[in-house]
Amino acid sequence: MDTIANNLQRISEEIRSICNRTGRNFSDIKLIAVSKTKPAILVKEACDAGQLDIGESYVQEFLEKQSSDLLSGLPLRWHFIGHLQTNKVKDIVGKTCLIHSIDRLKTAEELSKRASRQNVTVDYLIEINTSGETTKFGLSPKELLSVAPRFFDLPGIRLRGLMTIASPDRNKAGKEFRLLAELLDRLKSKSPDPALLTELSMGMSQDFDIAIEEGSTMIRIGTAIFGSRA
Ligand SMILES: *Cc1c(COP(=O)(O)O)cnc(C)c1O
Repeated sequence: MDTIANNLQRISEEIRSICNRTGRNFSDIKLIAVSKTKPAILVKEACDAGQLDIGESYVQEFLEKQSSDLLSGLPLRWHFIGHLQTNKVKDIVGKTCLIHSIDRLKTAEELSKRASRQNVTVDYLIEINTSGETTKFGLSPKELLSVAPRFFDLPGIRLRGLMTIASPDRNKAGKEFRLLAELLDRLKSKSPDPALLTELSMGMSQDFDIAIEEGSTMIRIGTAIFGSRA
């Protein structure tokens, strides 16, 4: 039967076999279950099956789900993975284990200001538009390399790596993931604290095999766990 527990089990086996094939360590890949548009009861089901890392894309939905009675007290780790408007930053500060989708310096500056004010440290990734598609959020590779020092200087927040969404064409995804891995290396060479830069958040339901092959440390999977979104 196609239950969430079964889906998680199957994906975990797939990750293991991709790791075996590509020489990666299974324990170096974190699976994030993306529950956007899906009800809290399904997050509970995933949690009961041992899946604690949860990804959400919309601020309002994230806040509602996180504070829902059904999920209160569970040891979930919440990842924010959607586009974050500057004026919404204050709503999620201190409520995430990682923000994957900082796509402008201005958003990072606001995050820094709010985190400092609340005396918390917020871990985040910079989203990179590796495909060059104009519909996608994220810094261009060129922008990243030119403005990186300004991200490093911001107090209260810690840059942990990079995130990307590849083009839907699987034939292009490999090159885009490789670019993200290369950019992380170049970022490390500029960083005052390269040991912090450990994360490559890349790979979704339809391309996580390619992403793992190219060095992903976090895959964000929605459809293959929770079913298709209406
Ligand atoms: C929705 C979403 C995912 C999950 O996509 P699936 O194709 O359902 O696995 C991953 N990352 C981001 C940023 C998303 O918005």
